[in-house]
Amino acid sequence: MESLTLELVPGMASYAVSANNSRGRRFTEPHSVYRSEFQRDRDRIIHSTAFRRLEYKTQVFVNHEGDHFRTRLTHSLEVAQIARGIARALGLNEDLTEAISLAHDLGHTPFGHAGQEALNDCMRDYGGFEHNLQSLRIVDKLEQHYASFDGLNLCFETREGILKHCSVETAGHLGDLGERFINQTQASLEAQICNLADEIAYNNHDIDDGLRSDLLSLDQLEEIALFERNWASAKNEYGAIDRRRLVHETIRRMINALVCNLIEMTKSNISRCVPRTLDDIRQSGVLVGFSEEMYDAQLKMKHFLSENLYQHYEVLRMTRKTRRIVGDLFSAFLDDPRMLPPAYRTEDNSPRHVADYIAGMTDRYAMKEHRRLFAVGEI
Ligand code: MG
Repeated sequence: MESLTLELVPGMASYAVSANNSRGRRFTEPHSVYRSEFQRDRDRIIHSTAFRRLEYKTQVFVNHEGDHFRTRLTHSLEVAQIARGIARALGLNEDLTEAISLAHDLGHTPFGHAGQEALNDCMRDYGGFEHNLQSLRIVDKLEQHYASFDGLNLCFETREGILKHCSVETAGHLGDLGERFINQTQASLEAQICNLADEIAYNNHDIDDGLRSDLLSLDQLEEIALFERNWASAKNEYGAIDRRRLVHETIRRMINALVCNLIEMTKSNISRCVPRTLDDIRQSGVLVGFSEEMYDAQLKMKHFLSENLYQHYEVLRMTRKTRRIVGDLFSAFLDDPRMLPPAYRTEDNSPRHVADYIAGMTDRYAMKEHRRLFAVGEI
């Protein structure tokens, strides 16, 4: 790997990731005149095809169900906004944090977790399917725009942040990127921030979307301490304003409470272990986190959403249907790869290749492809 040029960023902590301590890119490239290496990574992610597809991929609600619900794209933008604010407050690398956030869900299949589970089932005998590894596969291999290499040739630390988790067995095949799962060391603080910014974003926007869709009710949410205390504080301050505004006032308070708690706890964890270098961060335990009380409150919210929104009967009906779409497409293409569009055919037409094709589909494209292959009336 090449080493990057010296890059002094005022106000950044000595243990933040920078061009000075980066492990660099896999393929040597000339440096950009006006952009840092991590600005460049972020820009490459935004210009990728996989990023544009996030607009039409399910977060919780299938894309055509409503124009105001979150999609993978707006979710990723909310994660980036939250993560970037935390990184700035902690003197860390904002550009890297933004790059990881924007790329963290690139590998998601159509139809959210239902799609991923279905594809994982289909790939059971061929190494499985995991969206995290798929995000890495996209930035390392599947994006094919650059003349001199496959993938986006991102810096090591961006790729490391994208690979949030992986089994020790898989890690063994990933070279330097897999090392930390084997040695049990940590990723950068920037990567740790993205993991929790993801949780802060989805818990809060799923409450918002859940209420908007009427799958969740205020009565149910008032049972949850984190919601209730912020709802009460908003009502206290504004009294009888309309419900949408009060919900928004509650959610912005919850996000703010979680973010401030995370920044304060992380600062105190950092000051306790006095890291000087990025290597010290890798050798410490996880330093980015909530207080115990906030961790519990957030966990209760997660459980509540899991039981009441993600397993709501209307969501489950959609889940069932979308699993079938993914399963049908996989079997059809595996049976006869000649049905793949010519641009997607390869010499081997392996199951992994079929999984790449399906994982790359947007919700609406998968539904269209399913109709093309299975709707007898449309011959
Ligand atoms: Mg996410």
